[in-house]
Amino acid sequence: MTRYGSMYGPDVTFLGVDRCDVSDAPSLAGADVVIIGAPFDGGTSYRSGARFGPSAIRQACYLAHDGSRPSLAMRTDGLRDLRVVDAGDVEMFSGDIESSLQALRDVVARVAAAGAMPLVLGGDHSITWPDVTGVADRHGHGQVAVVHFDAHADTGDIEFGSLYGHGQPMRRLIESGAARGDRFFQIGLRGYWPGPETLAWMAEQRMRSYEMTEIGVRGLAACLDEVAAATGDCVGVFLSVDIDVVDPGMAPGTGTPEPGGLTARELLDAVRRICLELPVVGIDVVEVAPPYDSADVTALLANRVVLEALSALARRRCDSAGSAVWDPSVPLLEHR
Ligand code: MN
Ligand code: MN
Repeated sequence: MTRYGSMYGPDVTFLGVDRCDVSDAPSLAGADVVIIGAPFDGGTSYRSGARFGPSAIRQACYLAHDGSRPSLAMRTDGLRDLRVVDAGDVEMFSGDIESSLQALRDVVARVAAAGAMPLVLGGDHSITWPDVTGVADRHGHGQVAVVHFDAHADTGDIEFGSLYGHGQPMRRLIESGAARGDRFFQIGLRGYWPGPETLAWMAEQRMRSYEMTEIGVRGLAACLDEVAAATGDCVGVFLSVDIDVVDPGMAPGTGTPEPGGLTARELLDAVRRICLELPVVGIDVVEVAPPYDSADVTALLANRVVLEALSALARRRCDSAGSAVWDPSVPLLEHR
């Protein structure tokens, strides 16, 4: 197999970073992060369209696509201080969920086995099952904690007669043993799903779900303090960001919008903090559905979620390498 490129439209890379081919091991040599497109929306329960997410997220930026993005806040260049390459899309036919998810798991596992961090652009949330499983194939099943931003719990059992879909990946991960329920942290849940049976199952697994109600009362920072304390000593953390965690007013381009979510600023700050403080070994950004977007605001936000993560990961590496320690209380310019 050679590089598949883009499933829909031109074969562009994330903001102009170099291409790689996961079937060609030398092209992964030295890579810190491999971007993988998962253009799949066969798992959606309502509005489809997330198959166009990877291509929209790669391109949503008004600056030159030159493979460089110096972060003001982090004083790092996430695309240059780390070796970031783009593997293109995995071929995922939305009419065949099982073989599509298997193909993605194989690619994610191959990237993780090469020592790089997979960063997967969805696609609907079904892809998190293969994403986390592929990372767990490298780091150990049950060893990787999951931090999951979403309006929805995605812990359904059988939906529409199927075990696979965007409302069920978190259940499949726990049932299969790829992830542990008591190392599973959900942030931003709200609305009118799931019902009591599913909530009871989640409680049995000892999942920790920070609903918007709790976040509203205690503040997001206090909730993230607990997540950080509970995951700091884990082998690794997988960060899964469903863009619908953000209020539909700031992220309308998604298939199952739920009013009353986080602000874009809150999500970006949370992603920055997690990537600075926790041992992140895999990331996915899912549920961007460009057909419902308005002025690209959702794709732009997802693009910045990726950059925020990379800038912070670069900062974390830089600090642990023994240079200046980043301290949010010190004025930015004193860091350089
Ligand atoms: Mn989701
Ligand atoms: Mn969701």
